[in-house]
Amino acid sequence: MALPDGSRLFEIRLESIGGLGAHAAGQILATAAVLRMGLNGSHFSSYGSEKKGSAVRSFIRLAPSEQPIRTSAPVEAPDAIVVFHAALLRNPATLAGLKHDGTFIYNAPAGVVPEELAALPASATVLRVDALRIAREEKSRPNAVLLGALCRALPFFDRGVVAEALAEEFAGKHPDAVAANERAFERGLAESEALAGVGAAAGDLPAARPEPLWGYDTQPSGGVLATPGNTAWNDLSVSRTGWLPVLDAAQCIHCGVCDLVCPDYCLVWGPAPADGPYEWMLKGIDYRYCKGCMRCVESCPTTAMSRTAEVPGLAERARVARFPGLVS
Ligand code: SF4
Ligand code: SF4
Repeated sequence: MALPDGSRLFEIRLESIGGLGAHAAGQILATAAVLRMGLNGSHFSSYGSEKKGSAVRSFIRLAPSEQPIRTSAPVEAPDAIVVFHAALLRNPATLAGLKHDGTFIYNAPAGVVPEELAALPASATVLRVDALRIAREEKSRPNAVLLGALCRALPFFDRGVVAEALAEEFAGKHPDAVAANERAFERGLAESEALAGVGAAAGDLPAARPEPLWGYDTQPSGGVLATPGNTAWNDLSVSRTGWLPVLDAAQCIHCGVCDLVCPDYCLVWGPAPADGPYEWMLKGIDYRYCKGCMRCVESCPTTAMSRTAEVPGLAERARVARFPGLVS
């Protein structure tokens, strides 16, 4: 089995957040390539705290069987990038290093192509697939759908072999998930859409190599936090995995239970009209801070809070700002 154009090394980077299955997808691809397709391969992931919503990058390197892979550094100049969550497109590092003839796959509903993608090489192959919707419909996870799309974009992957590795991954611990993953994989193959005229850049994209902010000569005095993080600047939008809590104001009795259980202070309250039965009322949700855990929905004693599929623009339209003066 050969890599495309007889290349000696083929590198893939999966850009994701915890909970969407990027690490498992990388493991499945590398397992299929090494154990069933006769390639050399390596795979590892980098992530911070192991919690749903934190950034995850998964790296796969493939080479012909006689070619050793001697590096275990992160993939900086990938032949293919797969983006598991559309909100990650806002970060230029997500696109960094893609080769001019590389493949770029992203998870988003059909419609307007995100403007950030104009930074891709004009000669790159770009595919879009609505992996979150398909995963929801098939009761699977986006990784199965994106693996299907990847097999479509990179035909040197034997799709039957990748599907087998996917089934094997779940057969032991979650046998009930095997059929759902198979359906999601097939739909990723069939429903991914190749897009033309997306990128406008020439040549390979530069790799992102973050330099340390401070060195020996430039560091400030110890104990000084020059750029402190704070609650107001936090943005948890990328932590959501396809669902939003939506408030139906007409059903709300302003009991405050949702506010008690919300871990991120998303619920926005304000004074109620003087002629009504309440002094203080729930005005809405600031989705900037909402990670989509659904505790508010599960705890609401009425039907005021409901679990709703997140479609582009819904969070922006329904958001009630907790800090209206905050410029971001
Ligand atoms: S728990 Fe439900 S009814 Fe109570 S304040 Fe929250 S949304 Fe309104
Ligand atoms: S889903 Fe509800 S409880 Fe969870 S973070 Fe969002 S608003 Fe808070």
